[in-house]
Amino acid sequence: MAQVLQKRLAFIGAGNMANAIIGGLRQQGLAADLIYASNPEASILAELQQTYGIHTQTSNLEVARQAEIWVLAVKPQILRQVCQELSALARQQRPLIISIAAGVTLEMLGDWLGAQDLPLIRCMPNTPALVGAGASGLYANAQVTEEEKASAQALMQAVGISLWVEEEALIDAVTGISGSGPAYFFLAMEALAAAGEAQGLTPEVARQLSLQTALGAARMACENTVDVAELRRRVTSPKGTTERAIQSFEAAGLRQIYQDAVQAAVTRSQELA
Ligand code: NAD
Repeated sequence: MAQVLQKRLAFIGAGNMANAIIGGLRQQGLAADLIYASNPEASILAELQQTYGIHTQTSNLEVARQAEIWVLAVKPQILRQVCQELSALARQQRPLIISIAAGVTLEMLGDWLGAQDLPLIRCMPNTPALVGAGASGLYANAQVTEEEKASAQALMQAVGISLWVEEEALIDAVTGISGSGPAYFFLAMEALAAAGEAQGLTPEVARQLSLQTALGAARMACENTVDVAELRRRVTSPKGTTERAIQSFEAAGLRQIYQDAVQAAVTRSQELA
């Protein structure tokens, strides 16, 4: 990773996501000297500087001026203002610009930066990035080179996995699966714990059993080359307890429930863009 990313990186906005990515990059051995971050709050920067030894500045422009890759990591509602502030420098310096803001299209970014021919990447990360287990979807415009794509991928892989989609519209599908997805699994854990309580377990025992089961299942699924459907079949003995539960889920239309929920999230993501 460190070899692919021998470029100077500027994080514009140093909140949760930027912190997570910077932490991941440092853990993987990327030199602190290559990393810059800006934020209006000096206290946030002092902490980042102390923890990771990176360069920090309150000025977005000063930080951006130093770097070949800019990561726009501010909230979507202030991204326009930030792009406008950086637009002249972007056109002059032509860095690779990676936006992690939800619901902001490449066309909007191009408009705000004052040019549609800049190398831009749109990235949809998710909150497990904060614990190094994120899943990001990436889309690059035609101006982005293969080398730049490799850099963007290495950057997001510092906090999990990252995968490319072929069309920008598919970022809405990524939002519906992995962007919003952590909440679907939190809901499943809540519901399973509540079912445990209904069976007489204490809330704490039910909670711990539910969470550890989710973790164990996710690890088995991720660490195995066997398909998840096959893993499910292997724990579903004929006429056993699991089979009864699975039949109950299927009879209630669980697969359609997932289709409908993801469609609702995708539709909302399209509305927001
Ligand atoms: P955050 O609020 O933790 O961080 C944003 C930072 O930007 C803050 O520290 C804020 O002080 C700073 N800031 C405000 N105005 C600024 C300005 N003018 N210039 C520079 N910095 C400024 O937010 P976050 O959770 O890190 O999210 C960042 C981006 O990531 C958002 O666009 C969000 O849509 C996207 N995202 C986040 C998640 C997530 O799980 N947190 C998931 C998907 C996408």
